[in-house]
Amino acid sequence: MSDLIRLTAAELAAKLSSGEVSSEEVTRAHLDRIAAVDEELNAFLATDADASLAAARALDARRAAGEQLGALAGVPLAIKDVLVTTDMPSTSGSKILEGYRSPYDATAVAKARAAGLVNIGKTNMDEFAMGSSTENSAYGPTRNPWATDRVPGGSGGGSAAAVAAFEAPLALGSDTGGSIRQPAGLTGTVGAKPTYGGVSRYGAIALASSLDQIGPCARTVLDTALLHDVIAGHDRHDSTSLDHAWPSMAEAARAGVDPASLKGLRVGVVKQLMVDGLQAGVKARFDEALALLTAQGAEIVEIDAPHFEYAVAAYYLILPAEASSNLAKYDSVRFGLRVTPEGGGTVEGVMSETRAAGFGAEVKRRIILGTYALSAGYYDAYYGSAQKVRTLIQRDFAAAFAQVDVIASPTEPTTAWKLGAHGGDPLTDYLNDATTIPANLAGIPGLSLPVGTASEDGLPVGLQLMAPAFEDARLYRAGAAIESLITARDGKPFWAQAPSLAGASTGEATN
Ligand code: GLN
Repeated sequence: MSDLIRLTAAELAAKLSSGEVSSEEVTRAHLDRIAAVDEELNAFLATDADASLAAARALDARRAAGEQLGALAGVPLAIKDVLVTTDMPSTSGSKILEGYRSPYDATAVAKARAAGLVNIGKTNMDEFAMGSSTENSAYGPTRNPWATDRVPGGSGGGSAAAVAAFEAPLALGSDTGGSIRQPAGLTGTVGAKPTYGGVSRYGAIALASSLDQIGPCARTVLDTALLHDVIAGHDRHDSTSLDHAWPSMAEAARAGVDPASLKGLRVGVVKQLMVDGLQAGVKARFDEALALLTAQGAEIVEIDAPHFEYAVAAYYLILPAEASSNLAKYDSVRFGLRVTPEGGGTVEGVMSETRAAGFGAEVKRRIILGTYALSAGYYDAYYGSAQKVRTLIQRDFAAAFAQVDVIASPTEPTTAWKLGAHGGDPLTDYLNDATTIPANLAGIPGLSLPVGTASEDGLPVGLQLMAPAFEDARLYRAGAAIESLITARDGKPFWAQAPSLAGASTGEATN
């Protein structure tokens, strides 16, 4: 395995800026890794080696010309296929957008490019980001690099698996109900959902606009923070984007590396997030992490958040309602696929055949649910009630944050499950989101980082931290402190414990 792919983004950036390596070499090493392992993992839906290498060379030339470059200039970046890009297709994991090329870049992508990051490929995802396992992708599931018979989580399983398997040091994701944090938890990587509005959603293929948030993934807290700094900020193309002077997340992460920074931190543990069905090994690792925190002088406070119990139900009304409206634009006229019924057919006929052929089962299920929830006579009973519950959940958070600085929970009730294990039962997937959904309903930031493996299956366990809106930096500070305690406990960083992939050793450089 090339050494370059095992470096963190921060380490790569240092080597790039000192001239020890070129972006072309770094990019090539990651493309080689993708060629070696991605047939098995299916983390990428599209790569374009020529385009990536050309971008890397252009960056090397700018550096050679003495240009001042950003902190991550020259580092490869994998991009969830929910974000539109000009240089590669953007499908959102759906057949209805197969081969679709965007005429513009999403703002998060444009910012990454302007900062000198190199697009290494578009990552697999559940269709339109609906799912918790990446099994709903129209292009086949992604496999978890820790155990290839397991799911990587979803919907951003491709980005998380790419980072966990050293195919990319950094990735972008989207989190509507947990799709950055949950796959981070199941693949032993780090992922953050910024405060709603902290990162522009312009050019993110919409799922549920009041919940969607773009965010960073990486193998370390610092790398995640560095990417967060690149993509954050106001964008006039997104009316919900916040005009706020964000502090540097990387600085917060660096300050957190000293675990003494945890002294006096009040950490809330919400009773309702220690959900039914919590796996024993997940609970054990979570409790151990709390013990590490208290040993550093943090204070654990038990929190009651009575309305969290209804979060999953409210989410699965609000999300389908917004999604059914957002997905109405796939009408066979403006984007992608068009299926014409035999003998021609009417406009309605073309639309309905196209949508029937282009959308997968989960997408259809949610469109039907959402349309029903919004229909006259049912609107107040379903959508209206769900919005009221959303307000009550926001109040529960406000009351909690009056007592504590951050909230901690297991990212997920279980470790990664076997492909097909939830087959045909969407409710099992939905319930699995109980720990991540509340943050989206409230618009607050959340971060998942690995805290060990479960003793019963040896698979990664994630810890989720949440903070009040605008306090993303607090998560990076506390996250970096916990990460350094875990590294000290294990004698090596968590990412260095990932088993090498079966079948991946062939075809790899051994320098
Ligand atoms: N699993 C959740 C869902 O299916 C989360 C999706 C997401 O965050 N994009 O809706």
